[in-house]
Amino acid sequence: MKSVPVEVTAAPAVEPERVNLLGLDRRALEGFFAELGEKPFRVSQVLKWIHARRVTRFEDMTDLSKALRTKLAAMAEVRVPEAVADQRSADGTRKWLLRLDGANAVETVLIPEKTRDTLCVSSQVGCALECSFCSTGVQGFNRNLSTAEIVGQLWFVNRELAREQPERQVTNVVFMGMGEPLLNFRNVVPAAELMKDDHAYGLSKRRVTLSTSGVVPNLYKLAEVTDISLAVSLHAPNDGLRDELVPINQRHPLRELMAACRHYIADKPHRRITWEYVMLDGVNDSDAHAHELVRLLGDIPSKVNLIPFNPFPGTQYQCSPADRIQAFSHILSRAGLTSTTRKTRGDDIDGACGQLVGKVADRTRRQEKRTAVDGDA
Ligand code: SAH
Ligand code: SF4
Repeated sequence: MKSVPVEVTAAPAVEPERVNLLGLDRRALEGFFAELGEKPFRVSQVLKWIHARRVTRFEDMTDLSKALRTKLAAMAEVRVPEAVADQRSADGTRKWLLRLDGANAVETVLIPEKTRDTLCVSSQVGCALECSFCSTGVQGFNRNLSTAEIVGQLWFVNRELAREQPERQVTNVVFMGMGEPLLNFRNVVPAAELMKDDHAYGLSKRRVTLSTSGVVPNLYKLAEVTDISLAVSLHAPNDGLRDELVPINQRHPLRELMAACRHYIADKPHRRITWEYVMLDGVNDSDAHAHELVRLLGDIPSKVNLIPFNPFPGTQYQCSPADRIQAFSHILSRAGLTSTTRKTRGDDIDGACGQLVGKVADRTRRQEKRTAVDGDA
């Protein structure tokens, strides 16, 4: 590199920020290449290099012209995440802590099963909603992840898998890690598009599932721009209880949420909603709650996923006993509802639902406020 003499008093040279192509979906890349005066077919080539072949150096992208490779190297980059910790559970579940910036890190969890490898991705550093049974919620919130940081979790885990078994790749993605994906709409949607793009990861719409606690206006927006699968964190069959467990319900009560969900699957004959229902001992797990749930779901094409509560330090809740979960599940199936009880995976490495905490530089000062309130009591 040529060195340029600088005066002692001059401000340090700041490198112009390069565009991270890892975070550009097909539409964004089309715009990027159009500005460079390049042909649209470059988009598929570059998507394939970055996401399918996991090549990060432009000089190695051999079907691009030499001139284009040089141009890209000067103005863009492919910056991928870096792991700061890697844990493996006795049941095969794996969890990585990925560094984002100096203060923050997020967790991404791989759940291997016989016929599929499911990746649970994070969409925010922490979460601004305060569901009372969720350790991510208790931790506070720092910021949204960028598209590159979201899709980077998939890129990274695919590379780890391929290192161990060349043909092995993530087959399903669920947005069930840290954060509320619909409160990071702008970055989550292009990330999901990349996951589905045939030249990037090629996952079908059935294999990419967004889980939301019920940000109703953004559910309508989502229906306009994508057809990925939807999971809804219900956890209670009536407003009184849901207001307490999932506080966003106070803003968007069940009537609104159910209407938005019906709208999401309208005109999609083979689609159904997955309802997540965490089993909390003595709170939402009675026979009466199960019957109320059946009435609430009515004729919506549904699958109910009963999740045994995963405890974390300081929580006020306990998981329902196994026979209670079974009795609850029987009521649902007798009413014709498909219900599955999620096996708890990875709890020995705190990789189970609601146990993901990453490293959140909390900007909501939630812990402090909580301590103050507890102290007053
Ligand atoms: N914010 C989104 C997605 C992340 S949470 C949402 O709430 O849907 C993923 C799932 O884990 C949600 O259904 C959530 O309610 C559930 N969950 C949170 N804490 C949990 C806990 N301690 N035990 C079991 N499930 C939990
Ligand atoms: Fe946020 Fe989902 Fe946890 Fe609620 S359950 S606090 S929405 S991550």
